Amino acid sequence: MNSPDPVARTVGFKAGERNVFLHLLTACNLSCRHCYINPSQHGTSTLPLATVLSWLRLFARPDVESNLILLGGEPTMHPDLAAIIRAARDMRFAVTVDSNGYLFHDFLERVAPDELDFLSFSLDGPDAAVNDPIRGQGVFATCTDNLKRAVALGFHTSLIYTVSALNIDHLHRMPALLADLGVERFFIQVIGLRGKPATGGPGEESGWQVDPDHWLEIVPQVAAEAANLGIHVTYPKVYLDAGELFECAGLVAENFFVFPNGRVYRCPLCEDYPVHSLAIADGRLQTRHGLNEDRFFTLTIPEGCVMNKLLQPDTIRYRQDGTPLHRISCCLLKQEMPPAN
Ligand code: SF4
Ligand code: SF4
Repeated sequence: MNSPDPVARTVGFKAGERNVFLHLLTACNLSCRHCYINPSQHGTSTLPLATVLSWLRLFARPDVESNLILLGGEPTMHPDLAAIIRAARDMRFAVTVDSNGYLFHDFLERVAPDELDFLSFSLDGPDAAVNDPIRGQGVFATCTDNLKRAVALGFHTSLIYTVSALNIDHLHRMPALLADLGVERFFIQVIGLRGKPATGGPGEESGWQVDPDHWLEIVPQVAAEAANLGIHVTYPKVYLDAGELFECAGLVAENFFVFPNGRVYRCPLCEDYPVHSLAIADGRLQTRHGLNEDRFFTLTIPEGCVMNKLLQPDTIRYRQDGTPLHRISCCLLKQEMPPAN
């Protein structure tokens, strides 16, 4: 007899949990077609080690569960990444590195598996034919080779798959691949209308976004398949059911998105605009005054997230009477499917 499909649960924002997303640099060896890094808004520098350590101290709260996610660009291009990880652990952060899989500077030799909570890889397809047109020639092979090495060495690994119209119909092949590779956690993300997809640069098609019915038809089912194979799956809620509570993470959670130019956002949808509510300046984390992202967090509209309505209005569909068909959740609200027994 088949066991019932695992059931997703919405993970409410946990009071007291803090997540610090620190972009150590914006440089990267790849040029993914959906890259959201925007050097004109995020800076181009590589943060020196001393600066990283002083910034980490601004966010360290050893008494509170604090997750540090080290990002880029490609964070393993930072020459001092191993020292940064050790210092962060000493400050009691749980540390994750989000890599594109290239693992520069002999990363697997310089960091021990027990120094890192998770080493995360990114793939946007179950094979090179789907992944490489999005992330670059040869990327699938390099990423999966390094992922296998990491698993063999004993690292806890996770994988991020950014769903778009280009790859949603290949998502169903991921669970078997991940089980085969020994990946413990699977993060399914949805592409945002930012960066290249938003501007539709030369050679870029505009149809990246997945329509709601397609998302709802595919993603929960694939998540259940992965959970049945023993993988912990997380994916964005996106559409709130009738009666579900809308909450803005900017008001009820502690998330900090930190860029090398010192901008600190509370909402990732705002990252392409100079509306950050905090900034690191003169060695301090300072609140910025004026019309910034935090002014929007308190607004209540029938469509759910205000920033989504302002920045990605085409993600919302309306009934004939003008009411929205779905409310859009906070982009940080997740559904979780733990591994089936
Ligand atoms: S690996 Fe990440 S930072 Fe690098 S190009 Fe791709 S999306 Fe951008
Ligand atoms: S995505 Fe929307 S709901 Fe979430 S923090 Fe930003 S403004 Fe708030």
